[in-house]
Amino acid sequence: MKDGNNTAGLGIGTIAIHAGQRPDPTTGAIMTPVYQTSTYVQPELGRHLGYEYARTHNPTREAYERNVAALESGAHGIAFASGLAATDTMVKLLSAGDHVICGEGVYGGTYRLFSQVVARLGIEFSFVDSGSLDEIRAAVKPNTRLIHVETPTNPMMRLTDIAAAAEVAHGTGAWLSVDNTFASPYNQRPLELGADLVLHSATKYINGHSDMVGGIIVVRSDELHERLRFLQNAAGGVPGPWDCWLAMRSTKTLHLRMRAHNANGQQIAEWLHAHAKVQNTYYPGLKTHPQHDLAKAQMRGFTGMISIEMGSLERAAAFVNQVRIFALAESLGGVESLIGHPAMMTHASIPRERRYAMGLTDGLVRLSCGVEDVEDLVADLEQALSHV
Ligand SMILES: *Cc1c(COP(=O)(O)O)cnc(C)c1O
Repeated sequence: MKDGNNTAGLGIGTIAIHAGQRPDPTTGAIMTPVYQTSTYVQPELGRHLGYEYARTHNPTREAYERNVAALESGAHGIAFASGLAATDTMVKLLSAGDHVICGEGVYGGTYRLFSQVVARLGIEFSFVDSGSLDEIRAAVKPNTRLIHVETPTNPMMRLTDIAAAAEVAHGTGAWLSVDNTFASPYNQRPLELGADLVLHSATKYINGHSDMVGGIIVVRSDELHERLRFLQNAAGGVPGPWDCWLAMRSTKTLHLRMRAHNANGQQIAEWLHAHAKVQNTYYPGLKTHPQHDLAKAQMRGFTGMISIEMGSLERAAAFVNQVRIFALAESLGGVESLIGHPAMMTHASIPRERRYAMGLTDGLVRLSCGVEDVEDLVADLEQALSHV
């Protein structure tokens, strides 16, 4: 494609492959090169080619940022070295004395950053069940500047009504930010529903191959972009060009991967739901999910993420210790299937009472269904469940 900056009206597959990219101007290389450089030579004093120093500008990073911005139907992407670096920079939009309403089901690292680091700097937080609009509304204060939610949440798959949350935010002069890591822009585009900022741990579905760590924020507003671009350079949590290149190569197949994750997730969730040894299956694509209608309204697919209740730590352990194709590991969203035990792994830092209040019991198991053949994944789960 001659000019990947003009993708208006194109489908998400075409956008995934072409957005933000053009043949390299010096050689015509179809793939954006990895500009592995820290500085740029200036032809003469006072004149440069748009690039001075690589924390501030890097052509590989820029192509990747434009690509994800288009995928999220935003105007600007701002990339970071990790999802948490993106979140950390986002809260630097705020000042001491400001108040944030944050979904209680957010990623554990986000909760740790907000409650143990940012709160010390004089920013006030209220953690609420963002699945309940009443709870969000009740938490609003005169100094509320940001509402931050994750939907679906990890690992309970609870949804937040993005359009309604945006309305509450805008009614009080706050921004709505949505961590869209779990859904991916293929399945859900919060900016189209009124959110002001979308952020990703690109480590997960965006990159999808479990071989880098990264984060990215996407916005529509030029003003927010200017402020975030300033902060990206001022605070400096930028990704290296090689990681940007890996992620950009990966977004070229985002639509193909997500269709396969969605199909495998749906089929496996239905199979688990019907299995006698599984007490409960949490998956927004199941009709039994309490927010299935909302899921259908704001998502296009329901991903490969499933949580199940096994009933006890012993039963959960007997199951996860026996898988052969699924791998016991933290993280999610890669082409290979992973299985995890949130209470002892990703969510171990959350006090037990808080975990149980959210339904995150010692018997809960989380699956990240990859894109292997679904028959093989089901057979693996069946043999592992036979040990319970
Ligand atoms: C992993 C994750 C993060 C943090 O991203 P890192 O890239 O690990 O820093 C944030 N939000 C969600 C939903 C995640 O799964």
